[in-house]
Amino acid sequence: MQSNLVIYNSLSRQKEPFKPLHPPFAGLYVCGPTVYSDAHLGHARPAVIFDLLYRYLLHLGYKVRYVRNITDVGHLENDSDEGEDKIEKKARLEHLEPMEVVQKYMNTFHRNMDQLNTLKPSIEPRASGHIIEQQEFIKLLINKGYAYEVNGSVYFDVLKYNEKHNYGKLSGRVLEELQTSSRALEGKEEKRSSFDFALWKKAAPEHLMRWHSPWSAGFPGWHLECSVMSTKYLGDVFDIHGGGMDLQFPHHDCEIAQSAAALGKESVRYWMHNNMITINGQKMARSLGNFITLDQLFSGDHTMLEKPYSPMIIRFFILQAHYRSTIDFSNEALQAAEKGFQKLMKAIETIPKLKHSAKSTIDVINLRKKCYKSIDDDLNSPKLISHLFEGVNYINQVNDGIEKLHHKSINLLKGLFDDFVFSIMGLKNEKAEIGDHELSKKLINLIVKLRQEVKSKNDWKTSDKIRQELNQLGITIKDRKDGPDWEMNPL
Ligand code: ZN
Repeated sequence: MQSNLVIYNSLSRQKEPFKPLHPPFAGLYVCGPTVYSDAHLGHARPAVIFDLLYRYLLHLGYKVRYVRNITDVGHLENDSDEGEDKIEKKARLEHLEPMEVVQKYMNTFHRNMDQLNTLKPSIEPRASGHIIEQQEFIKLLINKGYAYEVNGSVYFDVLKYNEKHNYGKLSGRVLEELQTSSRALEGKEEKRSSFDFALWKKAAPEHLMRWHSPWSAGFPGWHLECSVMSTKYLGDVFDIHGGGMDLQFPHHDCEIAQSAAALGKESVRYWMHNNMITINGQKMARSLGNFITLDQLFSGDHTMLEKPYSPMIIRFFILQAHYRSTIDFSNEALQAAEKGFQKLMKAIETIPKLKHSAKSTIDVINLRKKCYKSIDDDLNSPKLISHLFEGVNYINQVNDGIEKLHHKSINLLKGLFDDFVFSIMGLKNEKAEIGDHELSKKLINLIVKLRQEVKSKNDWKTSDKIRQELNQLGITIKDRKDGPDWEMNPL
């Protein structure tokens, strides 16, 4: 397996060559959503970034097992060990069963992920489907002395763990700091120390989601599912664990502690984290009124949006920034991305129409090398896009007769865009696809035929209205000698 891919490991804080444990196999685990509300901008970024990684690993020839979990139990409000389960709270507010809430928002999440053209994971395990495995993991931690039971709940003993390990090493929070910043334990607390975290919680009488266990009828702690499901499906030691930067602490530091204590080794070889999204320079929060769901973004149905932005514009916009940089959403930035994306698609549509010459004046092979070099450098998608725009300039110059391409070079250029734009970056030409879709074609034919009928009855007003509205959708009716026809407007 020849690969020059280098990725930044958030744990070692440096770039490392990617060498999977068992090539050609590569294991990838990404923390998925807690499904209690519509998918929003914050979900789009990790989805697109780890889809880019997944697609590139596949392109390199790895056999990737991509596991992305669904959190459907145990994630409490404020990411803490106290308070209501996010899903159960939503169920109470909407008068639904907790699993109805899960199904409802999981369906939306999947639909949005399809719209963003992300490939489906190989396995999508749910926390509620792995209660027994989580209980076995807790037993292992108790037997090894790293967990203790109090009043039917089980907690991870952070101080004990820290005797031989370094708790908080991923986020860089050292225990001393935690001790000084952490409030003192109040007498009524069950925990031995305030930074211990729940592995199992005894359910209060009114709590709906509960399972029998040796300790109580209760539910698992949020961090446990990822240690359990990642090692179940990828092995005690696996290649890449990804997620948003906000998950580093406590979620991923707790995962590291649980897995190291239970399994006696480091489970994850490379930790990767995408940076956060801001909106007009502000953090996204429901309380700030700038919380935009993906459906609102795609439909334009939000007071902050000047217009709808299609899934591919969002995808292109996300890829224009490096995943470790922050990214700021604004109408201006999205409209600039839209222009860039359309320019790219238009150039790609031009490739088959280019006139070929006896000799090339452009080195396409070198351009391809530069594209690989960018993506190999810790998935530098903005750099990759800048090289693709060099290609766009070449296409336009050849089209204008300024530069020349041999027909073999034209094929190489087409292959380059197919590989990097469609296959690796996962973009697609949305406008071309409307006209490609069989049902769309039939519907457009039907409308054109109906227009012909009203026209034959001299109803010019309706006929013009149909023509204009189709035009707004990007479809032009051509009245030809042998009857009406239509075509998609060029971008
Ligand atoms: Zn997780």
